[in-house]
Order: sequence, then C-alpha cells, then structure tokens
Amino acid sequence: MQQAEDLRKTLQRIEGRSYKAYKDIKGCYALDDFTLIIDHVQGDPFAAPSRVRVRLDAEVAGYPPSTCDQPCRRRALATYLAGEFSRACAGDQPGRSGSGKSGQIDIDRPGQQILERSCVQIEAGEVEARFTVGLPAAGRRILGKAAEQLLCTRLPEIVRASLRYECNDGDEIEHYVQTSEDAESLRQQLIERGLVAFVGDGSLLPRRSGIDDAPLTAEDAAPVPFESPDSLRVEFELPHAGSVAGMGIPPGVTLIVGGGFHGKSTLLRAIERGIYDHIPGDGRERGVTDPSAVKIPSEDGRAVAGVDISAFVRDLPLGGSTECFTTQDASGSTSQAANITEALECGCRLLLLDEDTSAPTFMIRDARMQQLISRQHEPITPFIDQVRPLYEGRGVSTILVMGGSGDYFAVADTVIGMEQYGARDLTGQAHAIATESPQARAIESDGPFGPTRGRIPLPGSVDPRRGRREINVAARGRRTIQFGTHSIDLSAVEQLVDSSQTRALGMAMVYVREHYMDGSNTLQQILDRVMADIDTGGLDVLDASPMGDRAVFRPHELAAALNRLRSLQVEQKP
Ligand code: ADP
Ligand code: MG
Repeated sequence: MQQAEDLRKTLQRIEGRSYKAYKDIKGCYALDDFTLIIDHVQGDPFAAPSRVRVRLDAEVAGYPPSTCDQPCRRRALATYLAGEFSRACAGDQPGRSGSGKSGQIDIDRPGQQILERSCVQIEAGEVEARFTVGLPAAGRRILGKAAEQLLCTRLPEIVRASLRYECNDGDEIEHYVQTSEDAESLRQQLIERGLVAFVGDGSLLPRRSGIDDAPLTAEDAAPVPFESPDSLRVEFELPHAGSVAGMGIPPGVTLIVGGGFHGKSTLLRAIERGIYDHIPGDGRERGVTDPSAVKIPSEDGRAVAGVDISAFVRDLPLGGSTECFTTQDASGSTSQAANITEALECGCRLLLLDEDTSAPTFMIRDARMQQLISRQHEPITPFIDQVRPLYEGRGVSTILVMGGSGDYFAVADTVIGMEQYGARDLTGQAHAIATESPQARAIESDGPFGPTRGRIPLPGSVDPRRGRREINVAARGRRTIQFGTHSIDLSAVEQLVDSSQTRALGMAMVYVREHYMDGSNTLQQILDRVMADIDTGGLDVLDASPMGDRAVFRPHELAAALNRLRSLQVEQKP
C-alpha cells in the first residue's frame, strides 16, 4: 500500500497539468489512521465526481458490539454515520472553488428510512464509507495543491469528526440502534399475531409536504398525534421501549372512511411506508406493516405484458383476450387490474388502495348502473365484488380508503372512520347500515379468486444496450430508469422512496438479465434468486466495482420496474 507521502508527491507532480493526469492517483493509501481508496477518477471537472472510499479498522472506529453485531443494528449505525458524514461534508468547504464540482465531497445522504445502503458498510467492527470527491481544477488544469489540502487535510478531518465512535454521540447512536431493533421486533410480532398493520399511539403521520418526507412540525401546523380507537387497540412488548399500544389492523377487508381532508390518505400513506423502519424523530417509528404490502393505484398509459387480468376485466369490446393481456397503453381499470395481478404474482398479502388514485369504474358499479348497462355489456368486474373472494380464497387482505361509496360496508370486516385526524371504529355502525338498507346491487364475481399464473420473461426483450454501449442504464431521480433505449416510469410505484433504490433497481435489472433470465425461469424464481444473492453478497453483487449510491429494494419494486419496461415480453406458464 502507498503512503500519504506518495499521494502528496503525485499531486505536486501533476499540479497545473491537464485534468487527465489525475488518473495517476488511483489506488490505495495509508492515510492518517485509515485507508483511502481512490476507485475511480473522473475524466474531467464537469463529469460525475470521482469515487472514493475510506476504511477504518475496528480498533480505530471503536464501535462497541452492541451497536453493530447484528444486521439490524448495523443498518441503523450505518444510517446514522452516513448522516454524520454528510453533515461534516456540508460544513465550511475550504477549496470549494474552481471549475465543475471542484473541492466537493458528497455522500449519499439517507432520508427518513433506515435502509441498507452501500455508502456506509460495517463488517466485524470495520467501517467503510463510500463517497464522491470533485477533484479540484481551474478550467481543465489540475489544482494539485488544492487536491492535497482536500484529500490529505480536509478528508481526515471529516473522517475524524464523523466516522469514529469517540467523536460521536453514543446516546444518539444507541437511540438509532434501539429504534431500529424495536421496529424489527414490532414487525415480527405483528406477523406472529396475524395482524396486517399497526400504527402506534402518539405517532405523527402527516408529512411536511407532498415532496418532503420529513414530519410536519408545530411550526408548519400542529400535527395531531395518532390515537387508536379502544376497540382496535393492541399492545406489544418491545425490547427497548417496553410496552407499546396502538391500532392493530386485523386481516380481511378494512375501509378507511371519513370526510374529505380528515386524514384518510395520510393514514394510508403511513401504512404504505410501514414496510420500512424509520429514523428516530420521524414520527412513524411505531408504525409497521406486512412487508409484502403493495400500494395499488390506477396508472393509465402504462405498458402491460402478458398479465391475466380476467378476474377483473373480460371480453374486451374488440375481442382482445384478457387472460394474457398485453398493451402499450392500459386504461385506468386495466392498469389497476394489472397492478393487482402483478402484486399477487410476487406474493403480496396486503393490497393498499386509495379511492383518490383509483379508477372509479374499477372500484364499483352501483345498482342503477347495473340496471341500465347489463353485465353482458360491461367487461369490468368491479373490485368491490372481488375484494372478499381475494381474502377468502387467497388470504389476501385489503386496506382501502373509501369516502364515496357505502356499498363497500357490506364487504368490510373493519371500518375505521377518520374525523379531524382522529380514528374511530365505525365497524358496528357501518354493518348496521348495510343490514338496514340491504345491497340493491347484484354481485358480479363468478366464484372464488383463482391462482395467479406465473410468467416467464423472455431475455431478448430485456435489453440494456443502446448504440455502441453494452449497458446503457441509469436512474434519473427516484421515478425514472433509463434502460437501454427505454425510459421506465416508476412514478406510480409509490413505495419506492429513495433514488438510491432506483439506481440499484436499474443495475438489478441488468443483473437478472445476465444471470437468471433464461427463458425458463419465472419472474418469481428470478426475484427469489437475486434477492438471495443480495442477502448473502450485499448490494455490491449488482455492480462491477464498489458503488456508494445504492440502497436495498423489495422484490416487489424490482418486479414493478421490469413490468413497466415497454419492451418486456413474457410467456405465461401453462
Ligand atoms: P383525506 O384523504 O381524508 O382527504 P388527507 O390525509 O389528504 O385527507 O389530509 C388532509 C390534510 O391534513 C393534509 O394536508 C395532511 O397533511 C393534513 N393532516 C393529515 N393528518 C394530520 C394530522 N394528524 N395532524 C395534522 N394534519 C394532518
Ligand atoms: Mg385522500
């Protein structure tokens, strides 16, 4: 390994030369009391910044085993450290002058979730942080002295201030670790007790804004803490927080009703996000949901490849088959039907729907409409008539925000009423209304909800190439993946929360195409294998060299990305 002195000498030697000469610093250095690894040197000052790692031995890092001896603890500690590193970088930035990203050090900053990310890795007490550095330049000339100051002085300061145990707040680290352990235990107990979702008393659910996942604070508008109705209150014993009470949602069909603006969608959104653990102070730390839960919006315009949507839509006007439904431009109803079927195909046990983002004709056909337009002339079997068969035949529960149609009372097991952000149990009242004024509409499903067919993706239809580039794959923000010549729109995949997940998804698509898409594996088999690989080898299995801007995703989101690739072709399993 080279020494700090070698790095200094190289930087002095290339001072003033053209930017390409920076390539000479690629390599591994013993610096201070850590190792500096320069993996990738940017080609010019305006290109994506250089990729760099630092590695601290367990003794230097100094973390007690209680903070990092289990996956869930490591995840929490790593999230905390990434936040600290990011804060240290954001401090005053001497040398932050010059062209392009000169002098800028950046790490992939975590959001509100405790997610496994590639930017900080902890193994046997050893800490590795991955980040980017904008190597300083004036125009396209190397500023070697500035680079020396940046890498040999400023970077060690950042590392000292953020990555070592002794410089951090031990209590806060413990808080992160305990919050994460409690959430994991809570989710485990939720499943054991056969519930599908839990929202703890005192949770703060509203967010700052539609584009800001941070909690609404008193300065914005005092958030009303969540309080469970007595009849739905359950208690759990957590390893650190002790006894925790809140609303337990049982399996079956659950409606969230209430007037407009009373907090229905906010509650559902918190349930959607309960598949993730949240950082301390988020307000949703005590909210957990069945990890297989999938939010189902309508998504007109999406492409669909060979999905059997016949449970919801049959006999299209021009005779198209819906048992193997393929389109480049799905309607509101057909897209929502495809979204449900695809979720079931990946093992979803809890569907989450909001009337605000559902197709009206998919949700219900009322009695009068049934009189006017006979069943023979309506291809759609509305969700109201499949929601019970889905539960009774397949064990798939639904939580549905429904402020507009009381016909749903008859098919609901639980009815939660939201009133001025307060939750009430309206099940009894809703059932009484359903009995007093019996359903005038006819049930339109024809029996039990059948099994979901497997689909085999055809490898030739998943092509990451573009022009002369073998792999042309990139994420643009959270919502878009450029894959080969196609752009995949993920804006309707609402449980994808972080652009680092999107980046990882793009690479996972390439990975499964190379490793597991052979024209005989089903989508489910492909997902199982890649998730198992990530489980054993970490996110690094997806990339050829170490990357610092990836975060884990669920198989559901990977399936969602593949299913939205417009070139995708599948063969249905017989
Ligand atoms: P609905 O779906 O019933 O129409 P929303 O869930 O969209 O209502 O909530 C309406 C508004 O109220 C949103 O701006 C949301 O941020 C705010 N809100 C929701 N829950 C709370 C709460 N517990 N405390 C304060 N404001 C809230
Ligand atoms: Mg709403």
